[in-house]
Amino acid sequence: MQSLTLANGREIPQLGYGVYTMTSAEVEKHLPEAIAAGYTHIDTANAYFNEVAVGRAVKASGMRREDLFITTKLFPQSYPYEQCSVDIDASLERLGTDYVDLMLFHQPYGDYVEGWRAMEEAVDAGKARAIGLSNFPVHKVEQILEVARIKPAVIQVEINPYWNQHALKKALAERGLADAVFEGWYPLGHGDEALLAEPVFRELAEKYGKTPAQVVLRWHIQEGNVVFPTSRNPEHMAENIDIFDFALTEDEMARIDALPQHCYYTVPEEPPAFVLARNDYSKQA
Ligand code: NAD
Repeated sequence: MQSLTLANGREIPQLGYGVYTMTSAEVEKHLPEAIAAGYTHIDTANAYFNEVAVGRAVKASGMRREDLFITTKLFPQSYPYEQCSVDIDASLERLGTDYVDLMLFHQPYGDYVEGWRAMEEAVDAGKARAIGLSNFPVHKVEQILEVARIKPAVIQVEINPYWNQHALKKALAERGLADAVFEGWYPLGHGDEALLAEPVFRELAEKYGKTPAQVVLRWHIQEGNVVFPTSRNPEHMAENIDIFDFALTEDEMARIDALPQHCYYTVPEEPPAFVLARNDYSKQA
């Protein structure tokens, strides 16, 4: 396993396990399989409604807390300052832990500017080791930077070979976030078979004795991305973590970077209905 160093000096494992779309029962079945396969980095969110199950699976694993990297995320209903600290505590309670390694604002809407102060206070209080932003466009990151005492250590956005985010990385580096770590969601294209069937991935898989998914994940690692593909299949879990014994050449990286670019999901400027809906995250199986 390779790690990157966050702005707070702590290490983040570059490959993790994401639990988006998984029910609590699925988390309790598959997260132990992932931990047994060697995963130590878990990405969840309030909005996944499975933090309680993540907490139970972590506890049952017998792993020491300091050997795990746990991320969760808050939805916009939690951003108003007073609410934010209450909801951070509620997340920790559901996860059964005193702190998360990373807390993110999940969506770029609502009171994120005032909420950021509560996130910084969570760092001061040791409740979040690092804080960051997910799905924020450049101009909304700039609004946070105008008030930030602690800059976002992590930017989590869609990243895959069809949407490499080179422009966003450059734009944020120019705005003082050159040390931010980028995490990529939909790292394997969210199940899009066309991505894994791209001739370049088939050819490189053949060359290195790997699968197309492993070549895509290796590209992420060499791009400096942190990724946490979702899988309910132990064979895929083992495959996805077995990418540290080969390296793509510069030419091969350039061929992948030359793929036509298009995102799977455009983050709208205004909040979509699913973001405006208020949820009771205490109601979890
Ligand atoms: P993904 O690209 O990880 O795709 C998952 C799909 O790939 C599943 O259908 C799985 O069966 C398949 N797969 C996994 N390993 C494979 C392999 N070796 N070979 C072939 N197929 C394989 O997309 P995702 O699951 O949507 O995203 C990963 C994680 O990113 C999520 O669990 C979540 O933690 C995070 N995420 C965050 C946001 C956000 O808004 N911040 C949005 C989406 C996802």
